Amino acid sequence: MQENNEGYKEVDLLVLGGGAAGMTTALVAALEGLDVLLAEKTDQVGGTMSTSAGTIWIPGNQQSREAGYQDTVDAARVYLDALIGTPDDTGIREVYLRTAPEMVEYLRRRSDVQFAPCGKHPDYRDMAGAAVAGRGLAPVTFDGRLLGKDFERVRPPIPEFMVLGGMMAGKSDIPRLINRFRSVSDFLYSGGLFLRYLKDRLRYSRGTRVVMGNALAARLYYSLKKNGVPVLFETQAESLFREDGRVAGALLRSAGSSLRVRARRGVVIATGGYGHDAELRRRCMPAPTPPYSLACAANTGDGIRLGLQSDGAIRPETQGPGAFWTPVSVLRRPDGSKGLFPHLSLDRAKPGLIAVNGAGRRFVNEADSYHDFVEGIYASHKSVPTMPAYLVCEADFVRRYGLGAVYPGTTDLSRAERSGYLVVAPTLQELARRIQVPEPAFAETVRRYNEMARLGTDLEFGKGGSELNRFNGDPEQKPNPCLRPIEHGPFVALAVWPAEIGTSTGLVSDADGQVLDGQGRPVGGLYVAGNDMASIMMGTYPGPGTTLGPALTFGYRVARHAAGVSAATRKQSSTVSMA
Ligand SMILES: Cc1cc2nc3c(=O)[nH]c(=O)nc-3n(C[C@H](O)[C@H](O)[C@H](O)COP(=O)(O)OP(=O)(O)OC[C@H]3O[C@@H](n4cnc5c(N)ncnc54)[C@H](O)[C@@H]3O)c2cc1C
Repeated sequence: MQENNEGYKEVDLLVLGGGAAGMTTALVAALEGLDVLLAEKTDQVGGTMSTSAGTIWIPGNQQSREAGYQDTVDAARVYLDALIGTPDDTGIREVYLRTAPEMVEYLRRRSDVQFAPCGKHPDYRDMAGAAVAGRGLAPVTFDGRLLGKDFERVRPPIPEFMVLGGMMAGKSDIPRLINRFRSVSDFLYSGGLFLRYLKDRLRYSRGTRVVMGNALAARLYYSLKKNGVPVLFETQAESLFREDGRVAGALLRSAGSSLRVRARRGVVIATGGYGHDAELRRRCMPAPTPPYSLACAANTGDGIRLGLQSDGAIRPETQGPGAFWTPVSVLRRPDGSKGLFPHLSLDRAKPGLIAVNGAGRRFVNEADSYHDFVEGIYASHKSVPTMPAYLVCEADFVRRYGLGAVYPGTTDLSRAERSGYLVVAPTLQELARRIQVPEPAFAETVRRYNEMARLGTDLEFGKGGSELNRFNGDPEQKPNPCLRPIEHGPFVALAVWPAEIGTSTGLVSDADGQVLDGQGRPVGGLYVAGNDMASIMMGTYPGPGTTLGPALTFGYRVARHAAGVSAATRKQSSTVSMA
């Protein structure tokens, strides 16, 4: 970063937002030789990514192929076309499919941003071109000690995703921790994790063995540091300024003072969408606007507003809801703060759980993806109050599989009940009374469900009917891994509400992330990536990693476009720019 003779700081590229898209853009730009400055609003990097599962959806990626999972970009194209329904007129989906595997290989070769194949991790809909394995990649576990004291600069995961107040457990750790008293190897494995954690706590505020989205955030930040990219914390753009018709920089507010930064190659908006902006929520989401958001609290639509002020256009989803949904349950934490638990994959699909609306009726395939489950809530809510909906099961279900923030193995539900998190009742009639749904309808719902569970076929909603359903079910449960009768009390209910893991309405861009105006012309010098960019998925959620895959891929494309290194690709992409 230089200071020019007018007192401006001057860089090649100014990136606003230190989350998934912003850090990827800054990293790739630095690797391509640009002088980059990253401005982050809070005192930590990572944004929503650091609280996420960190999976990226990369059809046709080389690492999965090397691991023996066959998948192709061609099949993924068929799948996306079928799922999204509208043609890929602008070619931006095609550019995503072509660039995503290249982006992963680039980061693998040139940085510490490393992924490993998830293996089996089905796409979220059984349709032509869908894959059961090979498309999901997960960040490799990271040792936070490599960052030294800067480890504290990585936003932590939500407390509900940590055990003992600060130890992360990845998807593969969970069964081993649960089985620690049943198998010697799991006991030793779990003991090793606990010992490491105790040692960590002597020096750090949480465990340094980080996994999932937190590993991705830490890996990106570690790579930025290795490449000497400065991060200005507690800094946000107040406005953008133009020179010769192009966006040429930004006026930043940093630690109480103003800083004018000129950016020779452009400014990148990557501030994570509008999850915490009430007005944009009302404008872009369906009514009633969901009361909860899992987005990083700093994501208040700043980037989208800056883009609009600079003549950029916003694309309301022509199809879909403006967000990537998940159901959440709401809990009171021991310190009195409110926690949101996302019901992504651990409980809904398991056998012996149904979801009911205010009429005491089922309304959705409970094992469908988190996004589709909430679409089900909205559809039902048109005629029957379904906010909240209730997940209903036996207390024994909670002991086996856990329910939301109540871990598997829990036999005493009294604490969760006292805190108001769970509703527990000895009989189904009493449960219906306590959650205020009509008793006869509720009894009939459970009776009918039990009949189908004994049969092994959900004739009403098809629970257990898709690859995804069965993947998240219990393989020990035969014949249908997602169905078991609900018959022995005590019975449990848990309220769930619609919320989002990220917003999807954003600034329209071309395939290099150049922000476009209302006439489809690039706003010179202004780029966008991540959830500030209009999602290419058009309101659908195809598979694991649907938001981070594009955030990283378009971040990569923005950086390479700004660096002028992808001339061939650029020529191609300009012919497929969004009109
Ligand atoms: C529980 C959970 C699980 C998830 N799992 C997955 C998953 O496995 N795969 C997947 O694809 N997606 C997942 N997601 C969604 C994913 O995390 C987000 O969609 C993604 O992080 C968005 O990336 P982003 O860069 O746009 O925003 P973020 O990662 O949220 O980063 C935005 C950054 O911008 C900063 N910022 C905000 N305003 C300003 C400003 N004015 N100036 C400077 N900085 C600013 C914020 O502080 C933040 O650091 C999950 C989300 C949650 C909550």
